[in-house]
Amino acid sequence: MTATIPPQLPDAIRHWIGGENTDSAHGRTFEVSDPVSNTPYARAAAGGPRDIDRAVAAARAAFPTWSALGSRERATVLNRVADAIERREEQLAAFESYDTGLPITQARGQARRAAENFRYFADVIVALGEEAYRAGRSQLSYVVRTPVGVAGLITPWNTPFMLESWKLAPALAAGCTLVLKPAEWTPLSASLWPEIFDEAGVTPGAVNIVHGIGEEAGQALVDHPDVSLLSFTGSTDTGRHIVRSSAAHLKTVSMELGGKSPVVVFADADLEAALDSVVFGVFSLNGERCTAGSRVLVERPLYEEFTRRLAERAERVRVGPPSEPATEVGALVHPEHYARVLNYVDIGRKEARLVAGGARPDHLPEGNYLQPAVFADVSRDARIFQEEIFGPVAAVAPFDDESEAVGLANATQFGLAAYIWTNDLRRAHRVAHAVESGMVWVNSHNVRDLRTPFGGVKASGLGREGGAHSIDFYTESKIVHIALSEVHTPRFGGGPA
Ligand code: NAD
Repeated sequence: MTATIPPQLPDAIRHWIGGENTDSAHGRTFEVSDPVSNTPYARAAAGGPRDIDRAVAAARAAFPTWSALGSRERATVLNRVADAIERREEQLAAFESYDTGLPITQARGQARRAAENFRYFADVIVALGEEAYRAGRSQLSYVVRTPVGVAGLITPWNTPFMLESWKLAPALAAGCTLVLKPAEWTPLSASLWPEIFDEAGVTPGAVNIVHGIGEEAGQALVDHPDVSLLSFTGSTDTGRHIVRSSAAHLKTVSMELGGKSPVVVFADADLEAALDSVVFGVFSLNGERCTAGSRVLVERPLYEEFTRRLAERAERVRVGPPSEPATEVGALVHPEHYARVLNYVDIGRKEARLVAGGARPDHLPEGNYLQPAVFADVSRDARIFQEEIFGPVAAVAPFDDESEAVGLANATQFGLAAYIWTNDLRRAHRVAHAVESGMVWVNSHNVRDLRTPFGGVKASGLGREGGAHSIDFYTESKIVHIALSEVHTPRFGGGPA
């Protein structure tokens, strides 16, 4: 099957260093394929330590200029970046959908979110004050924030452009310059950043993009002594490895890692709303979503009906070419990932009861397509209950009371998001507080408020991004203490000789 080729598709994707498009120092490239035909459509520059060296040097050179801009000036540039993204919404969505396999309608939403991230952080930086503390008439202390320096940003292949914007915008807003290493499976949309930043008037060298394989380009960025902080979004295993590597230079790290988020549906919940939310929460974005509600815990009286209706809906989810507006689930990003997800479906067949999907739809003989799968009666020690599948696969299990629900919700190494469905106000709060996760939504799917902290606990990450938390991460705060009156100092050495 051939994919719908977006207009202006490049056949070469290059680094962007110091404001120039450039090849790798050693000239190496790697192939990039689309997930519908699984055939290469472009070659991307494969960065290594020398390219990272050049990019970090360019970021260091741009730092004095970019960091010296006033917050209003930086905000103006960020708003122009948002304008430039919006002008390219169609092209961005087409690139993203073609490269990642995301349905085109959902890719459009991601382009809009990327623009919103820039507008939002433009607002944050002009509105942000610095704290001051007064101790009566004796001392005044105030905080001075300064950008940390050169930031290293490493991003995954799911919703790549939006996730890149989620790091680029606060880093630039805070006054840092940076090197971005996009995911190697999906470098296409990142190839639009250079013209976007040029058009917006970002200082050349403030943003540098080095493509390449994680273990080469990514590792070189992690190891570079002049990169002061690392913002990483990706899998828990890679995150652990990066934290270990970054210890050599004691870098500041932010880790947004994997998830296996529970949806807890109590019998008093609004069944229709909960069902819509569960189906959307686990199957949208092809199920390749860190905050997917992939463990569905349902109170016993509702369990049979809920599971049956969830299975019916999963069977009816429209799987199809990413470029078609009617498609709800597109093609999984890469044959390796597709094989990994199919392997989990095989494991699930042995561990639980498959009640929907789990196979390639008949009308799609090629490409990385999977009819969304629902497994029922999944036990807490099952691998499909414990491990992040990162595809359109839901694991459903019953519970008998609130304490069992909380126990099941917390029974994995992850703790990113949780979703609770109940009409009992007190229980909603109780369970929200008891669930081990960085984020909880009550009677809702994942609706973001960009001001709020985003991140996970346990194996889902370290630190929080979002709003002032992001600015905290990309800046050092220094406290200045001023004595306002005489200070009594114990007198050492003032005694007789
Ligand atoms: P991954 O860890 O394989 O790769 C992520 C990035 O790290 C890529 O750019 C890769 O090239 C790079 N990388 C790999 N090895 C590296 C190394 N040794 N040094 C430096 N960089 C290296 O993850 P993925 O498969 O691309 O993404 C899927 C994962 O991301 C899932 O686990 C998902 O839950 C997670 N994720 C988390 C969030 C969140 O906000 N918590 C958001 C999206 C995705």
